[in-house]
Amino acid sequence: MHAGSTNECIFCAIADGVTPADVVFDGGDTLFFRDINPQAKAHIVGITKKHIASLDAVVGDDHGVIGKLLHEAAHVASDLGIAESGYRVITNVGHDAGQEVQHLHFHILGGEPLGRLVHRNE
Ligand code: AMP
Ligand code: ZN
Repeated sequence: MHAGSTNECIFCAIADGVTPADVVFDGGDTLFFRDINPQAKAHIVGITKKHIASLDAVVGDDHGVIGKLLHEAAHVASDLGIAESGYRVITNVGHDAGQEVQHLHFHILGGEPLGRLVHRNE
């Protein structure tokens, strides 16, 4: 098990190779895989292998890997062929955002026109 890994965390299990995932890019300290329940034609999840609960739990030591994760997200989008048409990168933080997996991840969504960002359930 890698440093910071927790037993109950599904993304730690994927980072450890215990739970299989459709990996599209392994950055060493980061991992990108296809979302199991895609919300767009292309839907990739990018994680740090280190367990960080959310953007809200980031500490100074994490700055490097998070910058790298975002830069790699752009490369992954490019490799998947969705960069030219456009894509969205988002992270949900906490209850009101509907964060389901308590391990920091960025969603990469694209491959088709996306709806406007929803600010409120109306
Ligand atoms: P969030 O609501 O931002 O926490 O997003 C969690 C995302 O993880 C959802 O889009 C899920 O479909 C996705 N997810 C959960 N379990 C898995 C898994 N085993 N493999 C791939 N994606 C997953
Ligand atoms: Zn985790």
